[in-house]
Amino acid sequence: MKIGFHDIDCHRASRLSIKLKDASYSVWRILNRALLKKEISQADGQKLFEVTTQADREAIYATADTLRAHANSEYVTFVVNRNINFTNVCYMGCRFCSFAKRKEDAAAEWLTSEQVVSRAHEAWDRGGSEVCLQGGLHPKIKGSYYREIVLAIKKALPDMHIHAFSPFEIWYGAKKSKLSYRDFLCDLRDCGLGSMPGTAAEILDTKVRQELTKNKLSTDQWVEIIRTAHEVGLRTTATIMYGHVDKPEHWAAHIALIRDIQRDMGGFTEFVPLNFVHTDSPLYTQNPDTVRSGPTVHEVDLMHAVSRIMLAGFIDNIQVSWTKLGAERAQQILHRGVNDLGGTLMNESISRAAGSKHGQEITSKEFCDLIRAAGRVPVRRNTIYKTIDVYKDHDPAEHKPLVNRHASDPLAFLKMFPEVAI
Ligand code: SF4
Repeated sequence: MKIGFHDIDCHRASRLSIKLKDASYSVWRILNRALLKKEISQADGQKLFEVTTQADREAIYATADTLRAHANSEYVTFVVNRNINFTNVCYMGCRFCSFAKRKEDAAAEWLTSEQVVSRAHEAWDRGGSEVCLQGGLHPKIKGSYYREIVLAIKKALPDMHIHAFSPFEIWYGAKKSKLSYRDFLCDLRDCGLGSMPGTAAEILDTKVRQELTKNKLSTDQWVEIIRTAHEVGLRTTATIMYGHVDKPEHWAAHIALIRDIQRDMGGFTEFVPLNFVHTDSPLYTQNPDTVRSGPTVHEVDLMHAVSRIMLAGFIDNIQVSWTKLGAERAQQILHRGVNDLGGTLMNESISRAAGSKHGQEITSKEFCDLIRAAGRVPVRRNTIYKTIDVYKDHDPAEHKPLVNRHASDPLAFLKMFPEVAI
């Protein structure tokens, strides 16, 4: 179906038309295809990532925003969830990772099933509909640990959605259990696993992965596990981690591969760009001359916008990561084709371990304030994007943040610039 100007509001249509007029011919041609709902090739996606003028960037952002409005109207979604990182012990040695600890380290942690259930209970009592479980690949973990924590949560909280285990953890658990990916995933599904995070994707390129993870979980293994999860009815997210040793050609190829999987399987719920946080990452600290210190401001904007354009008609939900970028930047990126802010989280360890300083929780009420200040309508969703509540004329219940913020306020910028909507 074509997007005609009758489908979008007059203000957006005239803004789009001005921005397209100012763009170079080669960019205009690609964006015009996207607006006519034609697929953007990998080569054209790369061209969009490589633009150098502000006029071209503005045309890309306006196109992404138009496609976003067409897919999601003015709604911006979020989920009330809690992250539970059940162990930070891991010997895999991914070079970008600053989360992993040795088991002798003072900060090493490994939660029992009872501790996991207790954290899930706290989340439920605060209105959470999801727990997101991910952990390191602890050398002593048994393959059965994964099913045991799923069973224990479901026994205590049958209606809690369990979003858990990256493809790397599935690879590890299946190996430890001596089961095929399919049998391991089917067992977890039957125990109550609801969906999976599509993390550990990093960049789905053999050469780049070798630099990041030293021959660990390959691109083919990531793809096989994700396809198998979709085949057995487990939906997953999809991610990209960018801004380290990668280039625009890798970004376009990665997104094209995600699109190919979605064309076949239809199992992705969302696409989440994750900017590389370099501060405490050994990949950067040990190689500051060859590894980038994360993406530039323009690259972050373009990543979200080009993802929307390349995935239009395939994946409707493009998420911005507030844990990696902060609330203020996340709000700006809502105007780059983004319609989802992810989870309230309650606890966040992985980005903080890499040096991110954006806190552990944004409450539902704060999400609503942030979304409304961007001129959009807040919507609480569940993990698989079913609407739970639309906050047009009321607010969600207020909760104090679970972890003490010591008076820091992630939305302080809104009070300084209340008219922040772009
Ligand atoms: S990224 Fe995951 S698998 Fe790799 S070292 Fe860190 S915790 Fe382990």
